[in-house]
Amino acid sequence: MKTDYDIIIIGTGAGGGTLARHLAPSGKSILLLERGGFLKREPENWSAEEVFVKNRYVSPDPWLGKDGKAFQPGVHYYVGGATKLYGAALFRLREKDFTSYAHFDGISPGWPLSYADFEPYYTKAETMYEVHGAAGEDPTEPPRSAPYPFPAVSHEPRIQKLADDLARAGFHPFHTPCGIMLNEANMPFSTCVRCKDCDGFPCVVHAKSDAEVLGVRPALAHPNVELVINAKVTRLNTNAAGTAVSEVVVEVNGETVTVRGSLVMVAAGAANSAKLLLMSANEKHPNGLANGSDQVGRNYMFHTSQAVLAISNEPNHTQYQKTLGINDFYFGMKDFDFPVGSIQMVGKSQAPMFRGEKPIETMLAPDFVLEKLADHAVDFWLMTEDLPSPDNRVTVDQNGQITLSYTGTNQEPSNRLYAQLKSMLGSLGMQHFLIPRSLYLKNDVGVAGVAHQSGTCRFGTDPKTSVLDANCKAHELDNLYVVDTSFMPSIGAVNPALTAMANAIRVGDHLLERLK
Ligand SMILES: Cc1cc2nc3c(=O)[nH]c(=O)nc-3n(C[C@H](O)[C@H](O)[C@H](O)COP(=O)(O)OP(=O)(O)OC[C@H]3O[C@@H](n4cnc5c(N)ncnc54)[C@H](O)[C@@H]3O)c2cc1C
Ligand code: SF4
Repeated sequence: MKTDYDIIIIGTGAGGGTLARHLAPSGKSILLLERGGFLKREPENWSAEEVFVKNRYVSPDPWLGKDGKAFQPGVHYYVGGATKLYGAALFRLREKDFTSYAHFDGISPGWPLSYADFEPYYTKAETMYEVHGAAGEDPTEPPRSAPYPFPAVSHEPRIQKLADDLARAGFHPFHTPCGIMLNEANMPFSTCVRCKDCDGFPCVVHAKSDAEVLGVRPALAHPNVELVINAKVTRLNTNAAGTAVSEVVVEVNGETVTVRGSLVMVAAGAANSAKLLLMSANEKHPNGLANGSDQVGRNYMFHTSQAVLAISNEPNHTQYQKTLGINDFYFGMKDFDFPVGSIQMVGKSQAPMFRGEKPIETMLAPDFVLEKLADHAVDFWLMTEDLPSPDNRVTVDQNGQITLSYTGTNQEPSNRLYAQLKSMLGSLGMQHFLIPRSLYLKNDVGVAGVAHQSGTCRFGTDPKTSVLDANCKAHELDNLYVVDTSFMPSIGAVNPALTAMANAIRVGDHLLERLK
């Protein structure tokens, strides 16, 4: 490691990894600092028992809830960040999600930029992450300037039947945009083997479009890019005037090192980026860096989500199940004029997974029942937008202990989405009840499911109410940027990773202009 770089990127997930790849060809000297190491490729990557019961790839980092009780969040500190385990459903936000509009529990705020401003970057992000999709099926889909780079991943027979049943009932099922490197036209040459262990698992054959495989590794092919792993950034120091970050303080394998970057990009994930800014308080920035507005850490969002399984009358032998979505209720439903959310499939449940899930374990005990349940399970993910609230926030004490205070919003639309799905089951060849799952959550603490964490350093035009300007530069510092999901003023009701990737490319273009 040298001491001086043009650009330092802290964190290598959807934001940082994407930015690194986009900037790499510029020839600028780039240092990537990643708290974790490379996620080991090993047979356990594809073991439901290891991944879902033993939490093999969850990084130990207890946080406190608003009641002061410790819990283990579902965090993954690796090169590639949370994308190493993600489901790779790569959605664009809807056009209206960029505007201010009314929800049941309040207003979802508008963004300083429109969907049209983001569209070219979504297109670039879909290309970088090799998204497979089918335009024109999803009634809420925003306009696009280019087709998906790859054809949609096909439905397997039980899911195709579900799609047909839904269409027959008057709904509009669509093929979920997926980031898996599947070549169905030429399977002997496909990197992806289409397996059941994808959503929530690492991919042992590196066929998932994650930020290690398609962000960091291609970036490292450029000699001007350097990655240091096991490098946890603990503090950002500023110059005496407090106008710029002058030093990045990092613990590398237990040793404290200081490095300098002309531009410093924070991409540590929504909670940890807020933590780093708050921990970097100094005389000029007594409440933390970029925090004159007192907004750093506030407005934490992570979706009001429910994982449920339905029992199909016929067996469901699907391997890769995440191919279908329904957005018919995204903006409202009959007799309810507020946005409700999206219905998606999640990875196919397997009996060992249930052993890590309290709701199912307590309902059904013996293993053979779990096997039978898994054999007939069709697994859904219901996602409703949660609204930013200043009281839903990340705070830290002087030792860096994170407290996550969160009170849910938009429960009523979430309940309606659940009731809607339940009411449809009979006509979809399923029994008339749903079984709740804890899935990525793994314990009784709802806030531990931090997979979709976002919003803690929102961007905006007014320095009094936002942390970052429209380029994601801190209003109060000349060379500090935040480029992960923290920047989002609202979260919509689709998965957030593609928006973080697109935004990183957008910010990258701004940096390239700035460094000319
Ligand atoms: C199980 C699971 C399933 C998901 N499924 C989907 C999906 O299907 N679709 C979707 O869109 N999204 C999905 N997500 C969410 C998606 O992965 C995240 O939205 C996305 O990765 C967030 O990107 P990020 O850059 O903000 O943070 P991350 O990807 O988490 O990256 C942050 C990085 O910063 C590093 N870091 C943290 N602190 C420090 C520090 N102090 N110093 C140095 N490095 C640090 C971390 O180790 C990490 O590598 C899923 C997430 C999970 C966990
Ligand atoms: S479905 Fe494909 S991308 Fe996903 S884990 Fe299996 S091989 Fe990897």
